[in-house]
Amino acid sequence: MSETRIHASRVITPDGERAATVVVRDGMIVSVDDPGAGDVTISDDQVLMPGLVDSHVHVNEPGRTEWEGFATATAAAWAGGVTTIVDMPLNSIPATVDLSALRTKQASTRGKLAVDVAFWGGAVPGNAGELRALHDAGVVGFKCFLLDSGVPEFPPLDRAGLAEAMEVIAGFGGLLIAHAEDPEVIASAPAAHGRRYDDFVASRPPGAETTAIETLLEQTRRTGCRTHVVHLSGAASIPLVRAAKDEGLPITAETCPHYLTLRAEDVPDGATQFKCCPPIRDDVNRELLWAGLLDGTIDCVVSDHSPCTVDAKRLDTGDFGDAWGGIASVQLGLPAVWTEADERGIPLTRLAEWMCAAPARLTGLGDRGVIAPGHRADFAVFAPDEKFVVDPAKLRHRNPISPYADRTLHGVVTQTWLAGRPVDAEDRAGQMVEVPR
Ligand SMILES: [Zn+2]
Repeated sequence: MSETRIHASRVITPDGERAATVVVRDGMIVSVDDPGAGDVTISDDQVLMPGLVDSHVHVNEPGRTEWEGFATATAAAWAGGVTTIVDMPLNSIPATVDLSALRTKQASTRGKLAVDVAFWGGAVPGNAGELRALHDAGVVGFKCFLLDSGVPEFPPLDRAGLAEAMEVIAGFGGLLIAHAEDPEVIASAPAAHGRRYDDFVASRPPGAETTAIETLLEQTRRTGCRTHVVHLSGAASIPLVRAAKDEGLPITAETCPHYLTLRAEDVPDGATQFKCCPPIRDDVNRELLWAGLLDGTIDCVVSDHSPCTVDAKRLDTGDFGDAWGGIASVQLGLPAVWTEADERGIPLTRLAEWMCAAPARLTGLGDRGVIAPGHRADFAVFAPDEKFVVDPAKLRHRNPISPYADRTLHGVVTQTWLAGRPVDAEDRAGQMVEVPR
């Protein structure tokens, strides 16, 4: 039996930040308020916080490993204090839409994981009969698209397909998550092409999000299926989510660091490293997202780490119509959000709820994301007052593209602990995680 006592003057607990000695035994936290001294002391300028749980990461392996693989994605997560990622079912080939594809993906992780990895399954046309087996195999839930996903092997559900999937998933108490943009609203907006960022934003109007969320909510109300809106970007959707929660529907929502920290006004034309779908919108919208987060309408902040190759980003032409939509930021989520939160006087305890505890609860990994007895001893040690300038070449994800390039961010992750010990990325100490059923 191995026991470690970690003392820190700043420990982020569910009840607030305080000095504590955290006792860890066999990878689990057994006590937070031990009166004794520590075997390990965290210096006063650093905070012991729960390891982040990033429930929205596109790894792409196998099949598009040149875009991102498990070795690079989990090393980036490690460097960002993220101790658990949940891999999205699309962009890998095969997509995770049946049990054999899940096993293929899991086999491809061997020896590569710097942090723990759990998996989403996918709900696509024709696979309703596969969902139960994926659930029983421990996927955390099911992702679907309501419009073109950008990759041919992961087609969207139409209304009938969505209704069927949600009935099936509700039948075993599962979770459906959706890319909520409505295809008809997008089709009637001007098409995205060219270098002007304003034209790209106009091609993905916020009404596409509200319409898609209304479609989802109809089925949530009808089936009782637990439903989660990924990467909410348009603040116009916040009142819909609020009303659905007030009605008692089992709905949650996430937003992402880039929507909270970047502004359309600052995106240069041709700067496709800022392209993601739905898009980064204007500053008024961004303020409303912060308000929605602070009042509890939006539950989680997760990265939507969606990398691609330099070629696929079309940095040469800067054409927003052709470029892949996605921002790779699993390594930068904590400092990016903290940079803004710090200036707004929002404490780290709130960030720990949004980036650790809430995504852990969402995905059924409730023994993670909290520093409390009975939880896993996965930690990030974070120096909140240090600053650094983002150099994409030094980020650990595969392709050195980042909209945060040259920005000064607050907060440096100095250690990442997995199951009770500080680890190096090269230890490859991460494990595959299956939700017990
Ligand atoms: Zn995504």
